[in-house]
Amino acid sequence: MRKLEHRPVYLDNHATTQMDQRVLDAMLPYFLDKFGNPHSDSHYFGWEASEAINISREQIANSIGANADEIVFTSGATEANNLALKGVARLFGKKKDHIITCVTEHPCVLESVRSLVDEGMRATYLNVNHDGLIDITELEQAITKDTLLVSVMAVQNEIGTIQPLSEIGEICHRNKVYFHSDGAQALGKIPIDVKKMNIDMMSITGHKVYGPMGCGALYIGKTPKVKLMPLFSGGGQERGIRSGTLPTPLCVGFGKTCELAIDLLAVESISIGRKRDLLLEKLTSELSGVHINGCMKHRVAGNLNLSIDKVDAESLIASLPDLAFSTGSACSSNSDSSYVLKEIGLSNSEIDSSMRIGLGRFSSDDQINYAGDRLIEEVRKIRNSRRSIFINAAE
Ligand SMILES: *Cc1c(COP(=O)(O)O)cnc(C)c1O
Repeated sequence: MRKLEHRPVYLDNHATTQMDQRVLDAMLPYFLDKFGNPHSDSHYFGWEASEAINISREQIANSIGANADEIVFTSGATEANNLALKGVARLFGKKKDHIITCVTEHPCVLESVRSLVDEGMRATYLNVNHDGLIDITELEQAITKDTLLVSVMAVQNEIGTIQPLSEIGEICHRNKVYFHSDGAQALGKIPIDVKKMNIDMMSITGHKVYGPMGCGALYIGKTPKVKLMPLFSGGGQERGIRSGTLPTPLCVGFGKTCELAIDLLAVESISIGRKRDLLLEKLTSELSGVHINGCMKHRVAGNLNLSIDKVDAESLIASLPDLAFSTGSACSSNSDSSYVLKEIGLSNSEIDSSMRIGLGRFSSDDQINYAGDRLIEEVRKIRNSRRSIFINAAE
C-alpha cells in the first residue's frame, strides 16, 4: 500500500460510507456493559439486549413505512437479497416457476436468480433504456400466470438512477405477483413507503447509509403475507426465518442509522445534490467532452457517473491518489468492465472513460472544490500527453 501525506478525499460513497459518530455512540454500550445475548430470556442481560433490538427494529421499520414485525435482520443486503429470492422461489417454485428481474441488478441478485435457474426456475431479464430505467410495458408483457416474483432494485449502485417503484408495485399487485426490491442504495436517499409502493420485500443495509458494516434487514410484508423458506437451519430466531444470534451492537447501530436517515433525508438530498451539481458544473465548464451516464432526472443526489472523452478512467484514478473514487461497483471491480454501462448502451471506449463519483453526508465544499480542481488538472495533463504522442507519431 502506498503511503500518502494526507488522507484522500473520499468520493466512493456507493461502495460504503463513513460511520456517523452518533451511530457509534449508540452502539458502544452494547459491546461492553450491555453484552447479553438478546435471545436469553431468563435474566436481565438478555432483556436489555432484546429491548434494544426491539427499539432498533421499530426505527428500521419506520424508515421504510413498515411494521416492526415485518423486519428480519440479516448480515447485509447480499444476504437479504438471497433470502428474498431463494426463500420465496424454493417455497413456491413448484407452483409458479417464473421470476422477472432486470439486467442492471446487483450481482447478488443476478447470481441468486442464476442459481435458481439451475434449480429449475425460469427467468426473464428486463432491459433498461439509455437513462437506465426499465420499460413498464415490457414488465407488463413479461408477466404470465406462472410469474411468482418480480425483483427490481430501487436505486442503481453505479449510475444512481431510481426505478419507478410505485408503477412496478401497482402492476405486480394487479397481477398477484410478489414485488421484491433491493433498496441498499435507496435507504436515506429517497423516500420509501413499502405499503404505498406495494413492495412485498425490500433489502436494506447499514453500511451504505453511515451505519455499521455487517448488518442489514429484509422487510417481509404481512399484508399480503409473504412466506418464504429460510436459508439457514438453526435456533429459529427471527420467527424461524433467519436463525443465528442477533449482533446487538450492530442491530442498535443500524436502528440509529435508520432514524438519522429519515430525519436528515430532506435536508441532505438538497445539500448533497447542490455539491454534486457544483462539481458537475465546474467539470463541464472547464473541460470538453464530459458526459453523464444515466438520466439526471431520476437520480439520487450523491451520484455522478461520468465519461470523459479521450481519458482512460483507470489511468485517471491511478494518477489521483489524493481522491478516492472508482470506475464502478466495488463488487465487480475484478471483472473487466461495467455491465451496467454496457446495458445502458455505452460503447467500450465510453465505458473505458467512465468513472463513478459518490458524494455523501461528510463531503465538504472544500473537498468538492479540491476534487474538481484536481480532476480538471489531471484530465488536461492526460489529454496533453496524448496529443504530444500523436504529434510525435506524425513526425
Ligand atoms: C452494496 C449493495 C449490496 C450489497 O450489500 P451488502 O450489505 O454489502 O451485502 C446489494 N445491492 C446493492 C444495490 C448495493 O449497493
